[in-house]
Amino acid sequence: MNHIFRRMLCSSLTSAQRSAAPLLSAAARNSSFWSGVEMGPPDAILGVSEAFKRDSNPKKINLGVGAYRDDAGQPFVLPSVHKAEMKIMSAGLNKEYAPIGGEADFCTASAKLALGEDSTVVRDGLNVTIQGISGTGSLRVGTAFLSKWFPGNKTVYLPKPSWGNHTPIVKHAGMEVGGYRYYDAGTCGLDFAGAVEDIKKIPEGSIIMLHACAHNPTGVDPTAEQWKELSEVVKAKKLLPFFDMAYQGFASGDVDKDAFAVRQFIADGHMILLSQSYSKNMGLYGERTGAFTVVCKDKDEAARVESPIKIIVRPLYSNPPRHGARIVTQILNTPELRSEWLVDVKTMADRIITMRTQLKDGLTKEGSSLNWQHITDQIGMFCFTGMKPDQVERITKEFSIYLTKDGRISMAGISSSNVGYLAHAMHTVTK
Ligand code: PMP
Repeated sequence: MNHIFRRMLCSSLTSAQRSAAPLLSAAARNSSFWSGVEMGPPDAILGVSEAFKRDSNPKKINLGVGAYRDDAGQPFVLPSVHKAEMKIMSAGLNKEYAPIGGEADFCTASAKLALGEDSTVVRDGLNVTIQGISGTGSLRVGTAFLSKWFPGNKTVYLPKPSWGNHTPIVKHAGMEVGGYRYYDAGTCGLDFAGAVEDIKKIPEGSIIMLHACAHNPTGVDPTAEQWKELSEVVKAKKLLPFFDMAYQGFASGDVDKDAFAVRQFIADGHMILLSQSYSKNMGLYGERTGAFTVVCKDKDEAARVESPIKIIVRPLYSNPPRHGARIVTQILNTPELRSEWLVDVKTMADRIITMRTQLKDGLTKEGSSLNWQHITDQIGMFCFTGMKPDQVERITKEFSIYLTKDGRISMAGISSSNVGYLAHAMHTVTK
């Protein structure tokens, strides 16, 4: 029955007849276009939050999702962000579209935050920086650009393991995924020798993804000396480094220290790609604010590279959202707000560092004979605890503590009131 005829029929029915009408349309819906659509697996991280919500245990803890919580376990709006919002509100700005690549002020401030206030790349106009839909969108636009224009091997080599969304992002863009050793399960630290050995085997002219700081999911970063060595190896293999910087400031509490790797690679002459996110360091998760940068050889090349990036963005989402970008610009370009923000970032990073110490001490107090040194050695939002899948299953079942199957915990979900309970639970399932 075609839908016009069905509508005519419905409009001529009595109300009693009309209440039977849904049956009629339900029958018609059986021949849907979507009967072949298959259910996909739940998102590995967001699925953990769903299970957490269903649990009625008052002691439950969600250590799955990487979102900062204050010591009372509540989401945190940074005081500097709140002040920036007040300023924006009182300025009575309009809601006109932003340019395709976002506002120039936002892009310049973002590039300087990552590359350094005195960056010669920014001074000489060698960077193309656009506002992205946070880190994810910036990576997605970046990979779309690479998929179309990268002249080398269209495979992106990721650390093993890497953030769970990297593989789908690369594949959505139509490229292949490769890997290099990164994490050593034996030491819960960096497998530096393995990384170097694998990177040396990557075909020349490929793309390598590097986590700029606070590696997700392991919390394991190379030292400054190791970064320098990696830079040499990457250069010798003529690889294109794509830095994912989702935690600038969040790792050490110092935005410049956390930008070390990015700036070292640039100093060594690499023409990097960079994705930035303000989700964590400004707590702008839902505002979807970030940036994508390509460092080019000269100004002319930068102008050419900007064009296809805009051509990618236009049919995808046309132009980026404004509010988050206005907050970032206001904070980065207003000296008092910027200083206040740097304190806010440090407050978040320090709380996480304190929780690491308390968790490790708690495990010792519980009588654990295992070596938990990696809890305080690792940095950033996450800790790769070393708990095995069966131990993760037990800690969830017996203690209502939720985390991803790989044993990763979000340090931000730990507070002074639940760290003792967590230490007890971790000791119970690992002894
Ligand atoms: N890269 C890494 C390594 C991340 O951990 C995250 C956030 N979990 C992102 C990128 C992107 O986050 P967002 O899209 O919220 O900026």
